[in-house]
Amino acid sequence: MPRNEPAINAFETAKQQVDIVADLIGLDDGMREVLKHPKREITVNFPVRMDDGSLRVFTGHRVQYSMARGPCKGGIRYHPQVTLDEVRALAAWMTWKCAVVNIPYGGAKGGVTCDPKHMSKNELERLTRRYASEIVFMIGPDMDIPAPDVYTDGQTMAWIMDTYSMQMGHTVPGVVTGKPIGLGGSEGRVEATGRGCAYVVREGAKDAGVRLKGGTVAVQGFGNVGSNAARILHDELGAKIVAISDVKGGIYRADGLNLPKVEEHAKATGSVVGFPGAKDISNEELLETKADILIPAALENQITAKNADKIQARIIGEGANGPTLPAADKILFEKKIVVLPDVLANAGGVTVSYFEWAQDIQGYFWPLTEVKERLERVMVRSYHDVHKVATERKVDNRTAAYVLAIQRVTDAIQFRGIYP
Ligand code: NAD
Repeated sequence: MPRNEPAINAFETAKQQVDIVADLIGLDDGMREVLKHPKREITVNFPVRMDDGSLRVFTGHRVQYSMARGPCKGGIRYHPQVTLDEVRALAAWMTWKCAVVNIPYGGAKGGVTCDPKHMSKNELERLTRRYASEIVFMIGPDMDIPAPDVYTDGQTMAWIMDTYSMQMGHTVPGVVTGKPIGLGGSEGRVEATGRGCAYVVREGAKDAGVRLKGGTVAVQGFGNVGSNAARILHDELGAKIVAISDVKGGIYRADGLNLPKVEEHAKATGSVVGFPGAKDISNEELLETKADILIPAALENQITAKNADKIQARIIGEGANGPTLPAADKILFEKKIVVLPDVLANAGGVTVSYFEWAQDIQGYFWPLTEVKERLERVMVRSYHDVHKVATERKVDNRTAAYVLAIQRVTDAIQFRGIYP
């Protein structure tokens, strides 16, 4: 499947993906056009008072790609390179991701073109509240539920929840997810993407005949997704984590790394590099490490036509979004390496966001054990749904996941019929 590559317009890529799947499942031209258009989108230009007293105008977007299967769902990104086409593409991908795990949502995404690294907390609060006010008429628990994305977090969501609630005249926790637990956030949300990834890897390993207990794992990225996936694969599934990396480089130890100690070291020094008793390796070497499982959990475009042939893992669980380029997908498929694609393997986050919303709406909160059990059920079921399509159609799991998702969205549109 073609995907987001540098210098390529991401929305053009997203539309090409729809065409490829439409060919496979025989969609007519009309339905292809529906699937290639966002349902609704808004661009807002709004002023923010900066700390030095000056006024600056910022541009933001919210794209509601599809609400065929339920309210829209998707994060809000603050980044200097945010463009409307990027937000459209991300909103399309959210639509497919929610459909792969079969949660009752459409897809959306938002973004503000800004450089949060050079803004104070007060400036970010004013920007967030004004942006939220500009889109207030199109978000809400029944309509569109934002969440954190790049450079936004629980604090950002708390400000949006408060701004929306002030406009409504009552507290509405279900308008956003990824909130702090004290404000209606869910237990288990922080680790959800890593945990979901570990469950999908476990199922993929069973089908591929790879033993996880005592099996070896290399993890690229030691942030939220990478560290939680590594911890759960080790603590709960008995795997040995032999390699870990972050932006500064990686470490390798054939006998397995002591994760709590690696975490301590990374906290103290700012990186996993230099961990006593391990060999320092580069990020490139990490990807090519001899390990049964590879978890790319850092950035996009890591596995390319150049290194795909050198990958020794038997299973790749994509914690990150878009780590594998299309040309690499082809090579990996030929090498019979099982790729568990991002829209499946990292969907644990949006799944627990769905749980958060469901809990907020009921005003009834679940214990962590229940969140974990329900997440496991969703991830296991979704893996098998994707695997079945891949086996039947003799395609890779990524193509299968897109087939499943686009078929589900199409079915919803057809059942509803075209209004009027
Ligand atoms: P994070 O910021 O917590 O961690 C990112 C990690 O990647 C850090 O350890 C960082 O040092 C490392 N890194 C950065 N640049 C690198 C480089 N050039 N080489 C190697 N490592 C590098 O981010 P996160 O939330 O863990 O997200 C990681 C990926 O997972 C992203 O692609 C994100 O879109 C995706 N994702 C995250 C979630 C979630 O719930 N957090 C959900 C779905 C997808």
